[in-house]
Amino acid sequence: MATLDSLTWLSRFVSETPGDSEIGGRSRQVANVCWSRVLPTPSIDSQLHLWSSEMAHVLGIEKGEAETLGGGTPVQGMDPYAQRYGGHQFGNWAGQLGDGRAITLGEVESKDGVVELQLKGAGKTPYSRFADGKAVLRSSIREFLCSEAMHHLGVPTTRALSLVTTGEDILRDIMYDGNPAHEPGAIVCRVAPSFIRFGSFQIHTATGDVETLRLLVEHTVRTHFPTHSVEDDEGRIAWLSCIAEDTALMISHWMRVGFVHGVMNTDNMSIHGLTIDYGPYGWLEDYNPGWTPNTTDSSTRRYRYGQQPQIAAWNLARLLESMVPLMEEPELLHDVLTAYTDAFDVHHNRMWAEKLGLDVFTSGDESLVRDLNALLQEVETDMTIFFRLLCSIQSPDVSELSHAFYDDQTIPIEGWKSWLERWWARVDSMPNRSIMKKANPKYVLRNWMAQLAIDAAHSGDYSVCERLHQLLLNPYDEQLEQEDEWFQKRPEWARSKVGCSMLSCSS
Ligand code: AMP
Ligand code: MG
Repeated sequence: MATLDSLTWLSRFVSETPGDSEIGGRSRQVANVCWSRVLPTPSIDSQLHLWSSEMAHVLGIEKGEAETLGGGTPVQGMDPYAQRYGGHQFGNWAGQLGDGRAITLGEVESKDGVVELQLKGAGKTPYSRFADGKAVLRSSIREFLCSEAMHHLGVPTTRALSLVTTGEDILRDIMYDGNPAHEPGAIVCRVAPSFIRFGSFQIHTATGDVETLRLLVEHTVRTHFPTHSVEDDEGRIAWLSCIAEDTALMISHWMRVGFVHGVMNTDNMSIHGLTIDYGPYGWLEDYNPGWTPNTTDSSTRRYRYGQQPQIAAWNLARLLESMVPLMEEPELLHDVLTAYTDAFDVHHNRMWAEKLGLDVFTSGDESLVRDLNALLQEVETDMTIFFRLLCSIQSPDVSELSHAFYDDQTIPIEGWKSWLERWWARVDSMPNRSIMKKANPKYVLRNWMAQLAIDAAHSGDYSVCERLHQLLLNPYDEQLEQEDEWFQKRPEWARSKVGCSMLSCSS
């Protein structure tokens, strides 16, 4: 087995796109480039606490490397940089954003093809603005556990290799209410084919730099979409439609498992259709399409669960606008939005067919799904438990689903009787249970589960993190009875606890 310094390192992004002539992390506006060279800031005391053996296997490396993964001196072959990008935040153009606290170490050959290794929280870059470039343990645990869990749920996502604590205390005002406190610092090493975002293209169009836009598009297509060619409008539309379809697939998976990203700004949208930038995300517990975990978004709930498909379309429209300068006939870009909605409908219908154990989704099933959605919202009902129990129900009797309801006394019995009987007739009393069990996970990273892992880690105990990491390697399997403690509705203590129902962007 190899170590990081014996891997074959590549720098395709750095060698094929324009870069900043100034080196180092001085905070500044940077013009006409895609990246700036910057070295990670070494940790005071790097301690490796979480490790994905699977990711390490894909990379072909042994466990260890705490120093390099904690921001220490890069090994031979790495050429670290921070990416420049812009973005629309909460619907408004925000100008230059960029990797304010992410530093790419380089690209490396792996069993899954070439992937990029990036440290999140390794210090200031030119894009840090007024912030410190660091990340706290709390948000790093959330990113590590959730991105690995998402992968095993079958949701397209960036991955995590390691979590290293830095030995430094960092000041954060978690709820932005004037109560800052020190928290331990940490660095996650995350892995993806690239971290190119919608905003990576937007910044060049917004600043009128068509040449850099063109170079970035050419690099992206050559490197990551090798079957595509962007020599003419037809090719550009086909490539962008591919991004639209990947995005539609990702969103349909989010809806299937009850994931709410929380900050779907265009700088947080991967061009690979991967879930990226785990911040104030959350999981639906009671089925409430209006819910968002992000308190920063509590007034408009722009990024609420039920609106994610529409927001992805809005974000795609911003990506498409940024491509206008490259198009001979810009109006053709509308076809890409149609490709998104068509793909989303296909995935969404298939998802519902799988969740309900139907062999195929027909137009008559639309009202079945609509009425189910309404019933699930009538009283507090746990999404994950409801669908999981539905996989094994022996008769159309709501009492078999009672574990999913918060209050036994208020279950809308008549409504459920009628819906369950309709569904039972639709599936001829034989729902396709094995398909259902692969579409309806038993375990997800509920907000309070992540918080329990964080609370234990703050006292030096990483066993809960480890346990959840292991549990979520097989989220669709029935596991040992002792794991049933994670197949539970949100406990009362978590209802209004910071980190469980309330999260902010502070991380
Ligand atoms: P996010 O909402 O986490 O996607 O971040 C939005 C922007 O703020 C990105 O450009 C981040 O790199 C930057 N950012 C967030 N937190 C920090 C931090 N602690 N230091 C520097 N930049 C940050
Ligand atoms: Mg981000």
